[in-house]
Amino acid sequence: MSDKPKITIDEETCYAQCFSCAKCTSGCPVADEMDVKPHQAMRLLQLDQADQLITAASPWLCIGCQTCLGRCPNNVDIPSAFSKIRQEAIERDQLENAGNVPLFDDIMLAMIKRNGRVNDGLMAAKYKFKAGGLLKDWKMGLKMFKAGKMKLFMKGVKDKPGVAALFDKNTGEVEDK
Ligand code: SF4
Ligand code: SF4
Repeated sequence: MSDKPKITIDEETCYAQCFSCAKCTSGCPVADEMDVKPHQAMRLLQLDQADQLITAASPWLCIGCQTCLGRCPNNVDIPSAFSKIRQEAIERDQLENAGNVPLFDDIMLAMIKRNGRVNDGLMAAKYKFKAGGLLKDWKMGLKMFKAGKMKLFMKGVKDKPGVAALFDKNTGEVEDK
């Protein structure tokens, strides 16, 4: 039995109101890939078994699109619940199903902290370099670049120190990647 305290999900996510209609799951764009479907995850929370979600892949696969929230008749905030599970998994260093999501987040947040915004091209290159497979997906990258969807150079915001101070105040240190 783990000596860690139980995970508490904010009641404002309204998970207690879920009646398992599965409208969330039927609209979720990544539900097919999830090991615990969104409606099943809410049932686990109701049964006070949030700890089971810590080792699931689903919280890491959630892209935060909020489709589930829009479809839910009871306003259950699944993306916030999954976000809390991800935070707990990081704090407990239980990242076996996290894949490269924490790496991607770290690179993106470090870039925002430094420049105030994300340079898509540079971020994709850094991520691919660190995750391995620098040349994987290069055709898609080229397509996006040609279509103007990805830029190699981008100016940062004017008040960079202000953005960095916000990070330090609200999220603590972000490792510079
Ligand atoms: S749509 Fe809402 S009520 Fe229905 S299963 Fe999903 S979270 Fe529960
Ligand atoms: S927010 Fe997450 S769980 Fe909800 S529909 Fe989008 S991917 Fe699925």
